[in-house]
Amino acid sequence: MNVPLLDLQPQTTRFREEILQAVTGVIDSTRYILGPRVSEFEEAIADYCGVDDAVGVSSGTDALLVSLMALEIGPGDLVLTTPYTFFATMGSIFRVGAMPVFADVEESSLNIDPAEMVEILEEDRRGDCRIKAIMPVHLYGQCADMDKIMDLAAEYEVPVVEDAAQAIGAECPLGIKNGSVQWKRAGSMGLSGCFSFFPSKNLGGIGDGGMVVTRDHEFAGLLQCYRNHGAEPKYYHSHIGGNFRLDPIQATVLSVKLPHLEQCHQQRRTNSAVYHTLFEQAGLIDNPVCLPKPVYSEINGAEDHNFHIYNQYIIRVPRRDDLRDYLQQHSIGCEVYYPVCLHEQRCLAEHGYGDLSFPVAEKAAEDSLALPIYPELSDEQQAYVVETISRFYQA
Ligand SMILES: *Cc1c(COP(=O)(O)O)cnc(C)c1O
Repeated sequence: MNVPLLDLQPQTTRFREEILQAVTGVIDSTRYILGPRVSEFEEAIADYCGVDDAVGVSSGTDALLVSLMALEIGPGDLVLTTPYTFFATMGSIFRVGAMPVFADVEESSLNIDPAEMVEILEEDRRGDCRIKAIMPVHLYGQCADMDKIMDLAAEYEVPVVEDAAQAIGAECPLGIKNGSVQWKRAGSMGLSGCFSFFPSKNLGGIGDGGMVVTRDHEFAGLLQCYRNHGAEPKYYHSHIGGNFRLDPIQATVLSVKLPHLEQCHQQRRTNSAVYHTLFEQAGLIDNPVCLPKPVYSEINGAEDHNFHIYNQYIIRVPRRDDLRDYLQQHSIGCEVYYPVCLHEQRCLAEHGYGDLSFPVAEKAAEDSLALPIYPELSDEQQAYVVETISRFYQA
């Protein structure tokens, strides 16, 4: 049996006619830059996230970059973030001339640990107050602890830019300690929320695309300006921006797919439940296979909310690299996200991060493995994955 890590074919087949029609509409319209397809999709995403404004951009990376540019973060500034994420989170910080400061992650969710953040923010406040933004990442499709992070942001008066590239539609409980829980969608809690429509994300285009959402109307205006060379009006440049515009062809394809996103989340959650049952039956849970922890699943009413959208399904295992090779030999797609923490990347060698250590993140880099979780994965395929893992550990 063949089980790819991700198979885009079923979705492509399902939406093929609608997508062709929509794309033909763009071609015939001759509106090839921004225009109504992009604004309609922006409105739909703002609606979906529960915010007033959304600004379509060229990628998830550029969503982060343009957010930092609009905040006028630059040389000498620091951005507090996690060492365990995709490179783009940190890349965007360096590209505006600022530098990251890392806080280790929580063992349970692998998201940035608010307890670690406190010390760093406190030290910064006693020193020269260089931290100009907090950039939490909602890794693998589950929100970071935004309840605590937003409290810290208020206390230390630092804006939050959410890297929600893997988490569109994921919901986060706020107000837990007051006993009145409100579920908020990823990206809608900070000053800005950044999404990616890279084809492997839960809402994926047929190429690159991204979006910034915000509740701050004035900030939305700045984002619109920066994504279009900082011009407002045309040829009058108040800021130095760039070309970070969302392509109308991507916007129209994504508009076709967005109404089906909830179903896609649901199918991924069902697949996660199937894995749980299968791993349990095989007697593998906790030893040797640690399953992903949906940290908000126990909160009252969680079953009615997308507490995890499973963009990736990450298990933690001993002899990880050997298991990966074994699964690949048996035609099962799997991947290591991420084998090297950001502070250990070679491009940082000359930036003074060499002596730092983030043990929780470093351990995750050693023992995490992503298994197939895409919506159309069949029960038989999942059974084959678990059987193969079971055979590996019996050998
Ligand atoms: C995918 C991703 C990005 C970048 O998105 P692109 O659209 O590929 O530029 C940024 N951060 C995280 C956490 C991601 O997973």
